[in-house]
Amino acid sequence: MENDACYCLAGVMGWPVAHSRSPLIHKYWIEREGLRGDYVLLPVQPSHLEQALRSLPVLGFAGCNLTIPHKVPALGLVDHVDPLAHRVGAINTVVVGKNGSLSGHNTDVYGFIQSLLDTRPDWRADTGPITVIGAGGAARAILVGLLDAGAHQIRLTNRSDDKARDLAQEFGPVIQYVPWKERLESLKGATLLVNTTNQGMQGEAALDIQLDCLPLDALVADIIYVPIATPLLSAARARGNTIVNGLGMLLNQARPAFKSWFGVMPSLQPELLDKVHATL
Ligand code: NAP
Repeated sequence: MENDACYCLAGVMGWPVAHSRSPLIHKYWIEREGLRGDYVLLPVQPSHLEQALRSLPVLGFAGCNLTIPHKVPALGLVDHVDPLAHRVGAINTVVVGKNGSLSGHNTDVYGFIQSLLDTRPDWRADTGPITVIGAGGAARAILVGLLDAGAHQIRLTNRSDDKARDLAQEFGPVIQYVPWKERLESLKGATLLVNTTNQGMQGEAALDIQLDCLPLDALVADIIYVPIATPLLSAARARGNTIVNGLGMLLNQARPAFKSWFGVMPSLQPELLDKVHATL
């Protein structure tokens, strides 16, 4: 009989979770790295989250990813929250310690910044103003990432003005709140535009913005990955801007999570990108 201690188990906990691409990504790396283990779907209702998390050590899991709607409630359920996840206010990765304790991390921050660097390796956050649209959960991870990357000026705008104003207050003076009605002017001189809203996602309207004021050398990122080319990205590409789709963030957030369970930092093979792309 083979040694169970060499078998590493992880998964993604969410509700619903059947649509998740994470098993495809992690199983690919398990096989490619020649590891023994598996990555499974963990459909867990919100009312069962605590019980499910506490079961991870007993069931021999090295940890799990968390997705909607568990990222925020899990903050109060794990034993340790790393400072970055604390600032984001959400956990997307849980790691089981040797003593069975649970620690919470956020790898979305790394995933987003790395997706920019994969597209433009010399990208820097401090070369000019950055415009971020949206003030939901994903926006928080993007703002923390941009702040830690050294951004000098982030213009934040959101349909519900009060949420952008609150976030600007929480994260400090680098973030300047821009009223939603002034969002077009917020593109003037911007070096990077990021859409963190759900607008442009399959089944949603396109993001209500025109790019006329945006410099042509600005990078345009959309964290949506279904579809892979949102109307915003198509419009940006048509006028000559370099674009970054949400697939890079999805794949890159998985890399440090995989490392924390399996001990290996996987790289992004074009074959994996193709496999995930084929499911979109
Ligand atoms: P969320 O917390 O629900 O936030 C949604 C955001 O969209 C809010 O800022 C909201 O503005 C805005 N919005 C909704 N309807 C709008 C409209 N009609 N016009 C303008 N703005 C509107 O969602 P989230 O968790 O941040 O996720 C946002 C998107 O990011 C989703 O599409 C998700 O799939 C994607 N995402 C991708 C990755 C990745 O790895 N690539 C990771 C996380 C999330 P209000 O405040 O006014 O409602």
